[in-house]
Amino acid sequence: MIDAVGLHKVYRLKKSRVAALRGVDLRVEPGEIFGVVGQSGAGKSTLLRSVNLLERPDTGTVTVDGEELTALRGARLRAARRGIGMVHQHFALLSSRTVAGNVGFPLEVSGVGRAERRARVGELLELVGLADKARAYPSQLSGGQKQRVGIARALASRPKVLLSDEATSALDPATTDSILSLLRRLRDELGLTILLITHEMDVIKKICDSAAIMEDGAFLESGRVLDLIGTPGSLLARSLFPLPELGGSDTVVVTYPRSFDMPVMSELTRRFDVDVNILGGGVEQVAGQSVGRLGVAIRGDRRAEALSYLSTSGLLVEEVGK
Ligand code: ADP
Ligand code: MG
Repeated sequence: MIDAVGLHKVYRLKKSRVAALRGVDLRVEPGEIFGVVGQSGAGKSTLLRSVNLLERPDTGTVTVDGEELTALRGARLRAARRGIGMVHQHFALLSSRTVAGNVGFPLEVSGVGRAERRARVGELLELVGLADKARAYPSQLSGGQKQRVGIARALASRPKVLLSDEATSALDPATTDSILSLLRRLRDELGLTILLITHEMDVIKKICDSAAIMEDGAFLESGRVLDLIGTPGSLLARSLFPLPELGGSDTVVVTYPRSFDMPVMSELTRRFDVDVNILGGGVEQVAGQSVGRLGVAIRGDRRAEALSYLSTSGLLVEEVGK
């Protein structure tokens, strides 16, 4: 649904140049929630704005829903952009307009008549759970409600793709969860494709099917979240499941890249008569599976056999003491 290839972007200021994108390739499948995570200054917002060409990359191509946006200009580009909604961190609502006025604004701009607009705004407010707030002003809403207005407005023109720039970063944890659930429900009900950027690992854990880690204008790794977690040395696995400093020659890091219905660790002690001591880590729901990463000391004469049993069972085993 989104295909960006070879994106480069340099911002030229008076005396300096900042390479915000240094060769990014991004592919987001239809119906997928794709998260790009990285620290401030990594280039995430530049990437997002390149996808709808609010920022034109210096080189590279962007194709959305089969149409190459980088080949378009003027009215044709504006028309294509209507297929892409955008949600902002600080909501970007017009304070002088009611909730209904904000949600209907993009429809007004594109010349949709009053009656049709009213009906569509009613539907959209229903969709985001704000039907009773149509006449309220932004200043009368909580942060979470403001973001629901922002999401409704982004969906006004029935886009297939939604871009979200840190949509939950200004919200408290409980409100963040409710907005993330809303985004997932909209993906399920409307078949939306969502590209979101965030600096919070929790967002990746809670709703993303695929993810990329971005640093200094480039992706360090990207792919399906569960595939990445199961890849040796994965940065994403390390960031999602941080471990304490592990020492000891008998210590290993065991990664569970999917749900297991058998109790792997107790099976290990039973079969190979080893001692298993869990030193840190955790198991959590990620992309619908119980996955995790544990630091474990495994001791006993049959340790080597025990480790190969874990590997053949589908767990990833990495020695740390060597
Ligand atoms: P992020 O969203 O990950 O924080 P940005 O894409 O906003 O990163 O910024 C990436 C880099 O590009 C930063 O060094 C930032 O200062 C610079 N940058 C972003 N936008 C502009 C701009 N309009 N003009 C000049 N430099 C910019
Ligand atoms: Mg940003």
